[in-house]
Amino acid sequence: MQHLVWFRNDLRTADNPALHAAMQESDSVLAVYIDCPGQWREHGNSPIQRDFLSRNLQSLSEALAELGVSLSVLECDRFDEVPALLSAFVKEQEVDALYANRDIGINERRRDKAVQQQLNIPCRVFNGDCVINHGSIATQNGEMYKVFTPYSRAWLSTLKAQGYRLLPVPEAMSRACKAVKVALSGEMKDSSDWHAGEPAAQQALAHFCAESLAGYGELRDYPAVEGTSRLSPYLALGILSPNQCLAAIEAELGALPFGKGEQGFSWLNEIIWREFYRHLLVAFPRLSMNRAFKPETEALQWSQGDDVFKAWCEGQTGYPIVDAAMRCLKSTGWMHNRLRMIVASFLTKDLHIDWHRGEAWFMAHLIDGELAANNGGWQWAAGTGADAAPYFRVFNPATQSERFDASGDFIRRWVPELGDVPAKYIHAPHGWLREHRRESDYASPVVDHARARKYAIAMFDALKDKEES
Ligand SMILES: Cc1cc2nc3c(=O)[nH]c(=O)nc-3n(C[C@H](O)[C@H](O)[C@H](O)COP(=O)(O)OP(=O)(O)OC[C@H]3O[C@@H](n4cnc5c(N)ncnc54)[C@H](O)[C@@H]3O)c2cc1C
Repeated sequence: MQHLVWFRNDLRTADNPALHAAMQESDSVLAVYIDCPGQWREHGNSPIQRDFLSRNLQSLSEALAELGVSLSVLECDRFDEVPALLSAFVKEQEVDALYANRDIGINERRRDKAVQQQLNIPCRVFNGDCVINHGSIATQNGEMYKVFTPYSRAWLSTLKAQGYRLLPVPEAMSRACKAVKVALSGEMKDSSDWHAGEPAAQQALAHFCAESLAGYGELRDYPAVEGTSRLSPYLALGILSPNQCLAAIEAELGALPFGKGEQGFSWLNEIIWREFYRHLLVAFPRLSMNRAFKPETEALQWSQGDDVFKAWCEGQTGYPIVDAAMRCLKSTGWMHNRLRMIVASFLTKDLHIDWHRGEAWFMAHLIDGELAANNGGWQWAAGTGADAAPYFRVFNPATQSERFDASGDFIRRWVPELGDVPAKYIHAPHGWLREHRRESDYASPVVDHARARKYAIAMFDALKDKEES
């Protein structure tokens, strides 16, 4: 029996249910990855993530070769060409069964359905991207939760009841096999600040658990310190699995934390947020189609504001914490979660610009760009999403900055124009700049926060009035 494992967003050999099953059930296993550069462009993923993908495919090819599995990297432009390409490969290689882990976006699900219809061999699909399977956490009416807190309670009790299953790297097959040289085409941006491959991901996870898990709850909101795991690029491409994160917590603490206040719980809670957004994406296909979670918010009157949008993208808004965060994103491909919330709130509630434009900009620059979390985060900030921030709660960028970058260290790292501004003034520096410099090269504020806040609330109030009339 010849089995084929089709890799997608699960670029790992450990805890990979599809690979594990294929190798348990046959001693002749092949692997394939299908690159679709046109689809990549259409989905708007970033050049830095593409480079990271390419490097991780190389590592995967080497890891699979050690197991006796050869990886072929095929290319077609778009998903709709995949069924024919895969069908030809299956015939040529005399494959008897296809194994894959579930992919959750709507285009991915349509592609997979078309593949299953075209191939006349068994296609086995596994849950590899979540600790708890999609659809298995539901309200009493059998529906997906729309609010995080009850979802997380149900998620925790499911975990308590059924535990989680961590699969080992499969045993190597006897035949020898050579790794291929992977070179994806298309625009790339150097991702070498992030080590590629499963061993690097495992090392980063172990390092985080040993050094920072205990202090995560206290330090996770401060962008100037390394208080979070920075594992998102690995989780987004499936180089690391969420089960492995749970196992690492357990190894570090001796047991999993199940309640608020227990050590390690606040980090586990982020893994639950990840699953919440992924489960929502599966339950509500409109989220993959640029639609708002709350349909009524699609009537919001966003501004065009191309100039201020550009200022936001380039980190030239005159709001130091926003500018530092946006420059950091453009330069490194990564941004701290607290800053993602601040800049997303600023774009939608201060500049009144449609969240879709921010979502796309993030996708085009993030190394960890991932539809479920990115869409969830943007809709949360814009007030259009499941369990979103209430519309009248608008982040004040200066107050956020004072709280979470009190010394201004993060700002100074990315906004050198403010290098000599004392901490007390750096969060809203224009008064100090006027007093101390004849000319300043730092941007003037593109908007008045207090006025912008009122306008944002009025935008949402108008929506309510419309519903009531
Ligand atoms: C507007 C906005 C856009 C975002 N876009 C993305 C994105 O494209 N890809 C992405 O992976 N995350 C996204 N996030 C969530 C979060 O900001 C990142 O996952 C986190 O900053 C990654 O850093 P870390 O690995 O150090 O996280 P940690 O704090 O160490 O958390 C561990 C893991 O949990 C998951 N996680 C943490 N917070 C969240 C969250 N709020 N929602 C969903 N999963 C979470 C991530 O996989 C993360 O790696 C977004 C958040 C916002 C507000």
